[in-house]
Amino acid sequence: MNSPISISYATSPPRLSGELILSVRDLSVSFDSPDGIVHAVNGVSFELHSGECLGIVGESGSGKSVTMMSLVGLIPSPPARIDSGFAVLRDGAWEADLLAMPRSQLRRVRGGTVGFVFQDPLSALNPTMRVGRQIAESVQKHRGLDPNEARAEALELLSAVGIADPERRYGNYPHEFSGGMRQRVMIAIAMAGDPPIVIFDEPTTALDVTVQAQIVQLVKSRLQKERGTAIVWITHDLAVVAGIADRVAVMYGGTVVETAPVDEIYARPQHPYTEGLLAAIPSAEADINTRLASIEGSPPDLLVELSCCPFQPRCTRAFDRCLQAVPPLFKVGNAHHSACFYDMVADRPRA
Ligand code: ADP
Ligand code: MG
Repeated sequence: MNSPISISYATSPPRLSGELILSVRDLSVSFDSPDGIVHAVNGVSFELHSGECLGIVGESGSGKSVTMMSLVGLIPSPPARIDSGFAVLRDGAWEADLLAMPRSQLRRVRGGTVGFVFQDPLSALNPTMRVGRQIAESVQKHRGLDPNEARAEALELLSAVGIADPERRYGNYPHEFSGGMRQRVMIAIAMAGDPPIVIFDEPTTALDVTVQAQIVQLVKSRLQKERGTAIVWITHDLAVVAGIADRVAVMYGGTVVETAPVDEIYARPQHPYTEGLLAAIPSAEADINTRLASIEGSPPDLLVELSCCPFQPRCTRAFDRCLQAVPPLFKVGNAHHSACFYDMVADRPRA
């Protein structure tokens, strides 16, 4: 594929906002395990536009990481298997289904078209290689610059992500950086290929609140606004998403149960699970286990193939239909969809 080649990060033009860039339809992923087949992702669909930030929210094990990682061939296969779906990526006139792409081509997509920033930057960085070199390599690989140009570009990126004294820091190793600074380095590596999409998988979970806020600010200003990059921000924390996402998809049991613009999700949640998550956001800080304990019951058993609403055993509004079929995503407002047979506004089962 032809990845966009630009001279300098700072001088190449940003992308137009609002263009459909990724369209995922009916994605299902399962794992073979000693206990049976784990149905990790069950018919997930979503769209992503350039310049927007999509927040993917759901408790641990709801399929957030597997959904995104399977798009770029980052899940181990076997034991993983993509059972259905397609994921059409568009970059200018170029268009391809990521799920049908050979691994060799996916390797170029990673970094060049889709950047990834993980929760634990230490495991994602090479501990034996100077940080500046790691950024420069990514620049060379995806943008075809010569080593000198790549070095200059890496220095510019270090400074862009707010690392002081980039000339000196270029020669440091990952262990010489704090957690927040390593996360900035990861963002610089993700920015190096100037990809149209960057996926952040719980990138600030291990960081303190002040550093979290700085990272969010950095991503919004340097990537989303300046470059028109489409951002996917994965988190278990609905409160975090308020500060960054334009749109939210709430996941439960490997399905998307509700999707809406961020303000709408907060003002008018239309799925009992989202409502429960919102009610559980503590006024003071508490850890996730305390917080989720307030939705009674346990997460769904993914060894059982989905045949009804996955949230039904924990739902206060469940009725007979919820046991008979998997609820489709109903349109419940402007750009607002909920996979629930109960109409929460009318307070009765949907007609
Ligand atoms: P999340 O990111 O929402 O916390 P994941 O997407 O990582 O959740 O995982 C979804 C489900 O897939 C989990 O229940 C997990 O047990 C299962 N899973 C993930 N990786 C594997 C694997 N390598 N083998 C078997 N099951 C897996
Ligand atoms: Mg995860």
